[in-house]
Amino acid sequence: MRDKSGRYRWYLEKILPRISDGGEFMGLIASATDITPLKEAELLMSQANEELEKEVARRTAQLEKLMMTDPLTGVGNRRYLNGRLEVEIERAHRYQRALTAVFLDLDHFKHVNDTYGHAVGDLVLVKTAETLQRCLRECDILGRVGGEEFIALLPDTPLEQAATAVERWRAEFAALSVGEHGVKVAVSAGIAQLAPEEEGEALLKRCDEALYRAKNEGRNCVRLSLAPAKA
Ligand code: GH3
Ligand code: MG
Ligand code: MG
Repeated sequence: MRDKSGRYRWYLEKILPRISDGGEFMGLIASATDITPLKEAELLMSQANEELEKEVARRTAQLEKLMMTDPLTGVGNRRYLNGRLEVEIERAHRYQRALTAVFLDLDHFKHVNDTYGHAVGDLVLVKTAETLQRCLRECDILGRVGGEEFIALLPDTPLEQAATAVERWRAEFAALSVGEHGVKVAVSAGIAQLAPEEEGEALLKRCDEALYRAKNEGRNCVRLSLAPAKA
């Protein structure tokens, strides 16, 4: 109802029939209570609730990002990469799309730390992540999965195409020199394309084996894993 000033107010109205002892209807009894303050409080409360829910969602997203990010380089961490690997493998199997994984490891990184100190080593890692990120396409996925180890997932990319791309990345590293000392870094890589029905762990194991070969065969090179024999 509107009050004298024209403002709407909320009323709670109760109307009861009055019945005589003989069961006869005698009339109605009505009462009206102004519950405007209650309604206003309710509104405030639901607005506050909405704000709170938004804040919780914002903080949850922040926390999730923090959990998935490598603090030094700002790229995804192992947890992030494992999550994305699962999703990409599922997609690749379902739609029969190519998926290639690249395991990268800096060469003689311990030497960088020993020669220039840990802070320079850290800077090299930051520049490594930046370089890789710059080389990758929008849909590619990058994670720092160990000290100086990175994994890139390349959706819709067959092995040979991935190998060409990784050779390009290697050239980018050759052109890179970091900090006032102009530290040079080289990278070795192992590459594997997802085989039919293969799982993430097996794919990464094949990348790791290929990387091991790259290290053994002189470093600063790329080695491919051929698809495993059908079980
Ligand atoms: P290789 O060519 O065989 O890969 O030689 P490497 O020296 O790179 O190999 P190794 O894996 O033995 O050494 C990795 C080094 O990375 C050891 C460790 O001191 C360093 N490292 C790991 N995490 C960090 C980090 O967060 N910051 C810095 N500065 N160094 C790190
Ligand atoms: Mg290593
Ligand atoms: Mg290394």
